[in-house]
Amino acid sequence: MKLTIDQIRGLFPVLHQEVHGKPLVYFDNAATTQKPKAVLDKLRSYYEMDNSNIHRGAHTLADRATREYELVRETVREFIGARESAEVIFTKGTTEGINLVAQTFGRKFIGKGDEIIISTLEHHSNIVPWQMLCEEKGAVLKIIPITESGEIIFEEFEQLLSSKTKLVSIIHASNALGTINPVKKIIDAAHAFGAKVLLDGAQSTSHLDIDVLDLDCDFMAFSAHKLYGPTGLGILYGKREILEEMPPFLGGGEMIKEVSFEKTTYNDIPFKFEAGTPNIADVIAFKPALDFITDLGKPSIKAHEDELLSYANELLLPIKGFEPIGTAKEKVSVLSFNITGMHPFDVGQMLDARGIAVRTGHHCTQPLMKRFGIEGTVRASFSVYNSKSEIENLAEGVARIAKIKNK
Ligand code: PMP
Repeated sequence: MKLTIDQIRGLFPVLHQEVHGKPLVYFDNAATTQKPKAVLDKLRSYYEMDNSNIHRGAHTLADRATREYELVRETVREFIGARESAEVIFTKGTTEGINLVAQTFGRKFIGKGDEIIISTLEHHSNIVPWQMLCEEKGAVLKIIPITESGEIIFEEFEQLLSSKTKLVSIIHASNALGTINPVKKIIDAAHAFGAKVLLDGAQSTSHLDIDVLDLDCDFMAFSAHKLYGPTGLGILYGKREILEEMPPFLGGGEMIKEVSFEKTTYNDIPFKFEAGTPNIADVIAFKPALDFITDLGKPSIKAHEDELLSYANELLLPIKGFEPIGTAKEKVSVLSFNITGMHPFDVGQMLDARGIAVRTGHHCTQPLMKRFGIEGTVRASFSVYNSKSEIENLAEGVARIAKIKNK
């Protein structure tokens, strides 16, 4: 499907408003994306017409809700190229997906002296669950260093790998800098040592074509809300043979086959990992978001976002006092920067006064900020509905703000 930028913008009601008397420019897409009307309509029609608990009901509404819910599992399977929909587990988000792997796979298969490798680029949600596991098990966390441009040093990664490595858990695309990691190479190298690989796909799934079979990752976690879908919903992909070996995460309804006071047996995957009533409405409303991406096509989304990023670089780099942070060759559309002599928060506030929404701070990557010797950055992250004129607006704002301290 080929749509003009105005047609795409027309699908997103939230974009058509003013902030502080200025047209909203939404550049906080790495935090969460806006939702097309089709997602909002689906949420409403589900609650108006189909609302029911799934899987157990003998009635028409339950049946309809169950079919729609399971249809989305199949849509996700197709979206990531998984072998079968049973390998798609609905979670609350990327954070829960990673914690699920840490608490089940980790607790069972990682022991004293074993090693887990992550990188300097990681989001806190791909650091803390491993620290918790290491503390409990006496395992060791190893960190891949990065270059000044924000790229992992592959040779150093190879040095860290050994027969002790049980898991490599790595960010696919950095939320703070935009760096795209060479994950296929990482996965191949890790597999050569028998280690499993988890990809944090929170930032990659909306921009890059994902084929989990081709990548051969063992797990991939991501969040619906960064893919134009609802909040409170995520996906954990895992290979069947590994998921089957893992103990359950939460105990309760749905995840069991049979319960007696003497012994409980567990359900098959994916239900073994979906205890309790799931987030039915948001799962069902995720489908139009995935359809929106698939209809547009990731390559054309990426091409548009790449164009925005290079236009932003072209306009912003010459500004006196503009300091880009993270200049990797392969990036998603994230522009992190500071302005000499100014606190990122103040820059964010001044941009907000111009109607421009950016994120400021450490972006849940404090160790990464420490690597660059900074407290935080200003982050503008672009999406499919952003336009070149919005980039011009940002550049004009940054130029004015930078002038305050950089005459
Ligand atoms: N990893 C990365 C790279 C992210 O950008 C985020 C969200 N900022 C997360 C993990 C956590 O995602 P969620 O808050 O949706 O669980």
